Amino acid sequence: MVQLLRILAATQKCCWLHRVASLFLLALIMTFFSNQGYLNPRSRKLESIQAKVSMLVRERNGLQSVNLSRMVYTQPDVLTPSRKDVLVMTPWLAPIIWEGTVNTDTVNEQFRLQTTTVRSTVFSGRSYTIFLKQFLQSAETYFMVGHRVNYCIFTDKPELCSSSQPTEREIIILETPSYAHWQDISTHRTETISNFSQRCFRWEVAYLMCADVDMRFSDHVVVEILASLFGTLHLAYLGLNQTDFPYERRPKSHAHIPEGGDFYSTGVLFGRSVSEVYTLTRACHEAMTVDQANHIKAVWHDESCLNKYLLSHKPSKVLSPEYLWQNLQMVI
Ligand code: UDP
Repeated sequence: MVQLLRILAATQKCCWLHRVASLFLLALIMTFFSNQGYLNPRSRKLESIQAKVSMLVRERNGLQSVNLSRMVYTQPDVLTPSRKDVLVMTPWLAPIIWEGTVNTDTVNEQFRLQTTTVRSTVFSGRSYTIFLKQFLQSAETYFMVGHRVNYCIFTDKPELCSSSQPTEREIIILETPSYAHWQDISTHRTETISNFSQRCFRWEVAYLMCADVDMRFSDHVVVEILASLFGTLHLAYLGLNQTDFPYERRPKSHAHIPEGGDFYSTGVLFGRSVSEVYTLTRACHEAMTVDQANHIKAVWHDESCLNKYLLSHKPSKVLSPEYLWQNLQMVI
């Protein structure tokens, strides 16, 4: 009997030990799975978000640290203006860009982070197709080298413009109607650019740079020119009194500026974000359409409209005539 009791006690002890061991094992398994997040989907989601955030931070930090090494430059001296001989700031605090006023390495580096594309639009119709090659050649050498740039050529002679051009960059050739008079091209330029900006450019690129095809770049132009809205000072009217600017002064024209004025801008080179280009070119085209109905043409066509627009929509950057030196030398 005593032996039977001993066997029974031993069996119960064994069962109890077995139960404790099983419970311990179960606890271990649960801890393992809950750590892995299998038992709590919310924590798993949170973890993956945290992982993404920390990856982003790491990526950002990575970019910053890469840039820092390139962004070490001479400290700007707050008490010494970069240029003392020219105006470097408009009364509405937009920078006027002259040689020596911008650290191009810094702006280039900032822009590179955005990975945006700039489209250079140019009209090359009628006999002006002969200027296309030199325009593209100069743009390849000097215009935003190292950045994403493509060209959009509007022409009534696509066969002449499509044959081998001196560029590695993408060229889009868009056919326009043939106009009998050269003035018609400047009238329809604004209409065409505004239509294309609304229909497709705004989905494709961030900035548009609109240039005359008979201009050429003679020095590096980098992203310092990009702004939501930029205009270029016309050398011929630099330093003149506003009463001497060739603004359209006839009240009958929609482009007329009765009095006053800031600067006189050239229509040879202007640009901005696509949405701004759309607003500007549409305003100019509407003004020219009204003028046409009233049998009047603004004195300098689209350039007169551009100047009127820039008076009420202040540019956020103004380029000095240095950007068109070469072209003015050609004219002189
Ligand atoms: N243009 C053109 N074909 C013409 C006349 C003008 O393609 O027959 C375009 C071309 O892009 C040119 C721009 O319109 O650069 C402005 O014309 P132009 O240089 O004759 O005008 P300006 O700047 O002398 O007033």
